[in-house]
Amino acid sequence: MPIDNDGVMIILSSPSGAGKTTLVKLLSKLDDFEISISHTTRKPRQNEIPNKDYYFVNEKEFKRLIKNQEFLEYAKVFNNFYGSTRTPVINSLNNGKNVLFDIDWQGADQIKNKKLDYKLITFFILPPSKKILFERLSNRDMKDKLIAEERMKQFDHDVLHWINYDYVIINNDIENCYQKIYSLIQAEIKNGSKDYDKDFIRSHIEKLTS
Ligand code: 5GP
Repeated sequence: MPIDNDGVMIILSSPSGAGKTTLVKLLSKLDDFEISISHTTRKPRQNEIPNKDYYFVNEKEFKRLIKNQEFLEYAKVFNNFYGSTRTPVINSLNNGKNVLFDIDWQGADQIKNKKLDYKLITFFILPPSKKILFERLSNRDMKDKLIAEERMKQFDHDVLHWINYDYVIINNDIENCYQKIYSLIQAEIKNGSKDYDKDFIRSHIEKLTS
């Protein structure tokens, strides 16, 4: 049974290229914070380390994990499967660790709907503008411009899910964005006051979607 000393679950989602993976890695350096390492059927990128960035598995293995009900959540994103296995997450939470999830809106919805007895804080990270997003995506996947263009199209759909998150954060500067998320997590854990301007976020989203 979850108790007061249990860790909290922290989800960061964003349209692709908004910088959430970097933010999750920065947050994981804090004491008592851990990343939930996802399974995926996607092929590793050049700079990715197996069993650290992801558990890279084939579709057969992924489907076996689904069948055995090992996933807390899973989803198909850009033609590949991604999922978070339940046991390591629950063990970490029970040991007082805060668990960070770098997952998409489908996974966030699933975890929210499970209504687990652990505290859950959800963040949606947005880029400062579409122009900057396209630059970030193009730099990342130089080999394939099509990937950047495909992910830009996806952006217009993904951004609509901001409404289901506790906090929306604009990533115009990684350090500043990190500090905002860190302060909000601390405020949530300690029940302190939260520095969050909902109207500003609403107008930013209107600009991104117009
Ligand atoms: P990428 O291929 O760029 O690493 O990730 C693509 C998308 O899949 C990102 O939005 C990422 O957050 C999401 N993702 C990564 N792992 C998981 C997971 O375990 N579950 C879900 N639902 N999404 C994930």
